[in-house]
Amino acid sequence: MGAIGDNLQAVRARIVAAAVAAGREPSAIGLLAVSKIFSAEAVAEACASGQRAFGESYVQEAVDKILQLAGCDIEWHFIGPIQSNKTRLVAEHFDWVQSLDRTRIAERLHAQRPAHLPPLQVCIQVNTDGGPTKAGVAPADVVALAEAIRSLPRLRLRGLMTIPEPAVDFSAARTLHVRARELFDALNAGGLGLDTLSMGMSADLDAAIDAGSTMVRVGSAIFGQR
Ligand SMILES: *Cc1c(COP(=O)(O)O)cnc(C)c1O
Repeated sequence: MGAIGDNLQAVRARIVAAAVAAGREPSAIGLLAVSKIFSAEAVAEACASGQRAFGESYVQEAVDKILQLAGCDIEWHFIGPIQSNKTRLVAEHFDWVQSLDRTRIAERLHAQRPAHLPPLQVCIQVNTDGGPTKAGVAPADVVALAEAIRSLPRLRLRGLMTIPEPAVDFSAARTLHVRARELFDALNAGGLGLDTLSMGMSADLDAAIDAGSTMVRVGSAIFGQR
């Protein structure tokens, strides 16, 4: 097995260990391999090691890879900032969008999702830190965006995605992730029926799993430093 296969195995072992430590079922936590910047060959190598879900942040780079890897059984997730002039490419080439944070973008993705494809699976990106410059909707605005998405049949609302500020240690990271988990639980108590809480990256996936993440997004621990 090459380095990517070895890294994947190590990341999967970390997920299992974190789940067991948290008293959770390891199979309840999905792994999204974040391949931005890395080549189609690197994605193919991860795919050969059994990885199916990949995350990309830059539309044009991603579409090039998606076309090159059209023969592979891959689920593609868009996780970067979405500009309105790129929504058509996203709607046509991706299975998921995790970084949805505006009604206007949701409406464009809905209108541009090709009829022969299943609905686009979406997560709302939430800014749980309250930092003014970061992407994502404020927690108080999530319900309004969720209701807008639910009125668009070519989109299917699956959950929330967060990118908290880097934390100094496990406990600080966990505190930030728990905030997202509490919001997720409150939305479900309100009847939204969400099944995906996408949080945790290479540095903090253990804390995110402890706090209830159902999908970790891991780049550098699999593909190397960018
Ligand atoms: C790049 C990226 C990741 C992966 O980060 P690593 O620290 O390399 O694991 C996860 N989520 C998003 C939204 C990213 O842009």
